[in-house]
Amino acid sequence: MKVDLHSHSYYSDGVYSPSEVLEYANQAKCDLFSLTDHDTTDGLSEAQERAEKLSINFIPGVEISAIWRNMTIHILGLDINVNNELLQKGLRRNQEHRKERAAKIAHGLRRTGIKDALEKTSALSKTNMITRTHFAQMLIQEGYCKDMKSVFRRFLTGNKPGAVRVEWSSFEEVISWIHAAGGLAVIAHPFRYRMTQTKIKRMFSEFKETLGDGVEAITAMSSEQEINLCSNWAKEINLLISSGSDYHGWPNQRINIGCLKETPNSDNLIWNHLSWQR
Ligand code: AMP
Ligand code: MN
Ligand code: MN
Ligand code: MN
Repeated sequence: MKVDLHSHSYYSDGVYSPSEVLEYANQAKCDLFSLTDHDTTDGLSEAQERAEKLSINFIPGVEISAIWRNMTIHILGLDINVNNELLQKGLRRNQEHRKERAAKIAHGLRRTGIKDALEKTSALSKTNMITRTHFAQMLIQEGYCKDMKSVFRRFLTGNKPGAVRVEWSSFEEVISWIHAAGGLAVIAHPFRYRMTQTKIKRMFSEFKETLGDGVEAITAMSSEQEINLCSNWAKEINLLISSGSDYHGWPNQRINIGCLKETPNSDNLIWNHLSWQR
C-alpha cells in the first residue's frame, strides 16, 4: 500500500493548489494521502472534494508549529475534524504569531537595507498565509541569495537580521487541540532538528508523557539507519509510526509525492489507527 501523510499546498508554503496536489498524489498511485498545511485547515475542503472524485483515501491533516525546550518543533495532526472550535482557536493563535513575526522579519530586513520586504513577500503568497519560505523566495527573486539553503542561513535563522523567535504553544497544548478534534498527534521529521540522538529520544519520551501519539519515522530524506532507529524508539516508547514526503512542489526540492522507503515491519503503523480503517 502506498501511503503519504505529509504534504503542502499554496494554503501554506507549497506551490500547488489542493486539487493539483491531489492530482499528483493520484498520478503517484497513493492509496492513502494527507494534506498537512502549516497552521491552517483552509485547503482541506478542496482537497477532500478532489480526493473523492479520484477515489483516494484522504486524511484531513495539519502541521502545527509548537515549542519544546526553546526549539520550534512541528506536530502533525492527522484525521482531524476541521470544525472543532478548540483546534481552530489554536490555529488562529498560530496565525496571529505568524502575522506578528512577518512584520518583525520585515523590520529586521529593513535595518540591513532591504526595503518593502513585507509588501513584496505578501505579493508572493496566494492566500493570507506568510511563511518564512515566502520571505526566502522574495530574497532570492530580489537577488540577495541564490538558493533556499543559503537564504535561510544568511537571513532567517540564528542571529541573522530576519530571525525572529516565536512563542509557539507547548506540546501539551498543541496535542490537546489535535485530540479535541479527534486527531492523532505526530512529531514531524524528527531528524531535521538540530538535536543529538539522545535528545531526540528524550523528546519522544516527553511527547508520549504529554499524550502524543506518534512520530514520522519515514520522510523523503530519511536514511535506512534513521528509519530503523526511529522505529525502534517508537516501539520502545509505545508510539505509532507515520510516513510522509513533506512535498511542497518546489522545483529544486527533489521530493516527489509518495516516493518513500519501505515501511519497517511493525505492528504500530499509524494508518491502521486512522478512521478510514475503522
Ligand atoms: P515557517 O513555518 O514559516 O517558519 O517556515 C518553515 C518552513 O520553511 C519549513 O516548513 C520548510 O518548508 C522551510 N525551511 C525551513 N528551514 C529551511 C532551510 N534551511 N532550507 C530550506 N527550507 C527551509
Ligand atoms: Mn514548509
Ligand atoms: Mn515541517
Ligand atoms: Mn511540512
